[in-house]
Amino acid sequence: MMENTSAPTWLLEGDLIESTGRTRSRLRICRESGTILERGDLPGDPDVIWGEGVIVCPGFIDIHVHCRDDPGGSQRHKEDYFSASEAAIQGGVVLVGDMPNNPDPPCDLESYRSKRNLADERSIIDVVLYGLLIRGGTPFRNDIPWKCYFGPSVGDVDSWGDATVEEVLAPFGGQMVMFHAEDPTILARCSEEATHEQRRPAEAEVEAIRTILKTCRKLDIHAHIAHLSTADGLALIEQARSEGQTVTTEVTPHHLAFDSENRNQFECGDWLQMNPPLRTPRDRAILREALICGAIDCLATDHAPHTIEENAAGSSGVPLLDTFGAFLCRLASEGIPWEVLVERASTTPAKIFSKFSDGQYGDLQVGSVASLTVLDLNQSWTIERSQVRSRAGWSPFEKTPFPGKVIETVIRGVRWEAATSSLIQQA
Ligand SMILES: [Zn+2]
Repeated sequence: MMENTSAPTWLLEGDLIESTGRTRSRLRICRESGTILERGDLPGDPDVIWGEGVIVCPGFIDIHVHCRDDPGGSQRHKEDYFSASEAAIQGGVVLVGDMPNNPDPPCDLESYRSKRNLADERSIIDVVLYGLLIRGGTPFRNDIPWKCYFGPSVGDVDSWGDATVEEVLAPFGGQMVMFHAEDPTILARCSEEATHEQRRPAEAEVEAIRTILKTCRKLDIHAHIAHLSTADGLALIEQARSEGQTVTTEVTPHHLAFDSENRNQFECGDWLQMNPPLRTPRDRAILREALICGAIDCLATDHAPHTIEENAAGSSGVPLLDTFGAFLCRLASEGIPWEVLVERASTTPAKIFSKFSDGQYGDLQVGSVASLTVLDLNQSWTIERSQVRSRAGWSPFEKTPFPGKVIETVIRGVRWEAATSSLIQQA
């Protein structure tokens, strides 16, 4: 690769962590090409030397986020590409996969292009846009992932009429489809139950996963199960994988941190309402082990911002982009090696997105995208409501100190201070 020697670069030195191990090294990154130019024992005066306790990771990737923005703009009081970018920068997230369940959904080429243009105009971070899989839809592009809703949402099975799951999915052979797995028949049967958790029982997820895996195997679809919440669902996924099926899955910070028993550790415990809901302590423990061993492929937030008023009025969804990196610090302090966390938060999501993203993510090698996350493990951080950059304006992790925080997020060679989303300029 020929490089323009006059292009502005940064020379960085620190403890680099990849899924393959850690090294103290220097990186030269280019602000113009947005790539890593050189790595190793490089000559020159570094622009920054990060000392002991500060780690440099390949930028985190969150493949499941609701940025809420669309050309109609009717949900911008919850979030838009700019505020989501600021929250992501605070969380050390450099690339997100944005969900398509907008009021103005990207479900054909034209609507997809409008949303793409909007994201390109307004976002600071990189965004992969999911297309919405609807009845009668076809893969109008071959370089994007798809989202299919079983449970109630925009474009869900309620709008499929009498079409079967197989009929709706049939055109998507060979594609990657992320599924919101909750069986609508079971949800309908439980709709009169007293609590949110009872209205959305574990059985709804397990049965939906069973149907999805069976259908995707037949149609050769790469099924990705979103926000896995049940041990029984995990068992089905592991079984399918052991039989050679291409299937991946993710777990959210809220399903790892909270369960039906401990939710009131957060003082607004009744705001911890989401789909699928919190499960039992047993489910939570099993999901955590599965993330460590890799049976769960990645951490993804399902960042779903609503305003405080909307949450108090019973909206489902939790904002989690701001705390992505800090939450990893907590997992690390509980004994999960950083190499494993980087694999689940960067390397594997990069692989899942390799056909959809522009450039190589997930490592710190020469030629890869210069999008990095820098964390300081010497500083503990308790997020205040006033610090939340997401327009949601609250966090389920308020008042619980994190043993570390993101201090800087580099997006394609451009350095951003995490807490303020302000540009770091060359001295
Ligand atoms: Zn979601």
